Amino acid sequence: MSEIQKKVKVHVEKVNKSYGENHVLRDISLDIAENEVVVMIGPSGSGKSTFLRMLNQLETPDNGTIVVDGFDISEKATDINKVRENIGMVFQNFNLFNNYTVLENIMLAPVELGKLDKVAAEKKARELLKTVDLVDKADVSVNSLSGGQKQRIAIARALAMEPDVMLFDEPTSALDPEMVGDVLEVMKNLAESGMTMIIVTHEMGFAKQVADRVVFFEAGKIQESGVPEQVFNAPKNERLQEFLSKVM
Ligand code: ADP
Ligand code: MG
Repeated sequence: MSEIQKKVKVHVEKVNKSYGENHVLRDISLDIAENEVVVMIGPSGSGKSTFLRMLNQLETPDNGTIVVDGFDISEKATDINKVRENIGMVFQNFNLFNNYTVLENIMLAPVELGKLDKVAAEKKARELLKTVDLVDKADVSVNSLSGGQKQRIAIARALAMEPDVMLFDEPTSALDPEMVGDVLEVMKNLAESGMTMIIVTHEMGFAKQVADRVVFFEAGKIQESGVPEQVFNAPKNERLQEFLSKVM
């Protein structure tokens, strides 16, 4: 009998991380399959950002194993820059180059890292501007954009490297409410296109609609995980029940 096995894109096994006395991640194990969309929820300070940042080595785990795209990033010999090129990250506060134009922001990484020449990078950037519905903003300075537009440009910039995995850390938390929908729409389209995504968000409606799996972090542990219907409608963990009663 043949079994169809989904390819594991991100494998995390028994990872721990402390900052001094503060044990922030406790024995975290999680596998994320190709094309899977995982939404991470949980109270502030529960370790969600630290977890995401470990996946592209903005933080180093104290122990445990992290394999991304088949590369063991906990191994010293692994070229972390190569791995990072395959992981796009979008932050709460955009992290764009404010004195550059929109097009320059999107073109910068592929050109600097030698992935595309300038002509190809510009072509790619203009295509991505269609994806995020901001074609007319190509030549303006990012300073002149609204928060929601900046975040859509940040997504386009990450996509310019053609990553295999996209990480989002509260991408809509810094936005005015009327901007949130447009950003979530872009993320939803990206999910439907088959992108492997790990998203930290407090947008529970979005999580219900888009997530294949919801993971609840609390006190540095994965307390519960499952399909959205189960996590939101029939939570087992008491702390999850309490969390949901506050946010929903
Ligand atoms: P979350 O994203 O769920 O709000 P974080 O991962 O940002 O949680 O933080 C988890 C814990 O780790 C918090 O107690 C936070 O203060 C601490 N922490 C995060 N980053 C650092 C750091 N660079 N140095 C020291 N402590 C940190
Ligand atoms: Mg955080």
